Amino acid sequence: MQFAMNFALARHTMVVEQLERRGIRDPRVLEAMDWVPRHEFVPAELLDLAYEDRALPIGLDQTISQPYTVAYMCQEARLTPDDRVLEIGTGSGYGAAVLSLLAAEVHTIERLEELYVAASDRLARLGYENVHCYLDDGTLGLEREAPFDAILCTAGAETLPTAYQEQLAEGGRLIIPIGRHAHQEMYRITRHGNQYAHEHLGSFGFVPLVEGVE
Ligand code: SAH
Repeated sequence: MQFAMNFALARHTMVVEQLERRGIRDPRVLEAMDWVPRHEFVPAELLDLAYEDRALPIGLDQTISQPYTVAYMCQEARLTPDDRVLEIGTGSGYGAAVLSLLAAEVHTIERLEELYVAASDRLARLGYENVHCYLDDGTLGLEREAPFDAILCTAGAETLPTAYQEQLAEGGRLIIPIGRHAHQEMYRITRHGNQYAHEHLGSFGFVPLVEGVE
């Protein structure tokens, strides 16, 4: 019990001091970040760092994204409660858990089997019933569930995969970091008919988007 209370306090401090102070304004995003137990998504030996505003290793050279980055991408995706969302890069499942509180349905793809198994078990155990996990190559999007109101790519692409734009619904938003390893520029690409409006959002560091399943 003592532990649970400390985690809740640490989480709230993270929301106020790391997210609000750095400009996250969307109240639904702040509430979701205050709700999802990030300590359930980090390796046991890093529990102490669960509510620091930093990415942490989750094995296989991958990371759970920094809380600020998760909150920022969710905010910039302009999600509404009826949205159907696609996430590329399930990783720990943390981003999918946050998205599940902001949208109606979340589909999330991971290419590494070990991470896919761990994340889907974790999300089921924690009761995130509107999250659907897939072991697949996310560079192709998820044609059979398209179109999506929002697509969030949580790994850095060297070039923009064409599938994502095609799988956006009318008015849909794609949030994607593009560039070389750990030095990407984040864009929001919004679909208007067959036109796509590109907006530059800022610089971030992500692990690379890699083709194929392992
Ligand atoms: N959203 C995650 C962050 C994961 S880091 C979280 O909240 O924990 C990015 C993830 O993208 C890694 O797990 C990596 O294995 C995965 N990834 C990279 N290329 C991919 C691809 N082509 N398809 C699906 N997942 C991919």
